[in-house]
Amino acid sequence: MSDCIFCRIARGEIPAAKVYEDELVLAFKDIRPIAPVHVLVIPKQHIESLATATVDDAEVLGRLFSVVGKIAAEQGATDGFRTIINSGKVGGQEVYHLHAHIIGGGAPLPAMI
Ligand code: 5GP
Ligand code: ZN
Repeated sequence: MSDCIFCRIARGEIPAAKVYEDELVLAFKDIRPIAPVHVLVIPKQHIESLATATVDDAEVLGRLFSVVGKIAAEQGATDGFRTIINSGKVGGQEVYHLHAHIIGGGAPLPAMI
């Protein structure tokens, strides 16, 4: 997926405000933030969405979820945060490289469900 925008960010071909990186995942600020803290966490390898992820992706997905809390705290979402993963057309996914939104740092968010 050489033309995937998040693959290009992971390769350093497109600038992004990186806030965390390890050998498996990368986190950077959303370009259109909807809250004081709005970070995207992505696997460095191209995984299209949760709709296509498999057990072969378990290690990288485990890592992704494992670092969310640390990133949120470091960015200032100290009173909690919301984590959203949109999948597919009905899920409202715009970029087809799996990513978790970390949203927080402001007033309490309204309940979604
Ligand atoms: P989705 O709707 O796919 O869950 O969300 C995609 C998110 O990626 C959107 O919140 C959008 O603002 C963000 N985004 C799209 N292109 C870029 C980009 O080039 N850089 C950054 N930092 N964020 C992007
Ligand atoms: Zn990609």
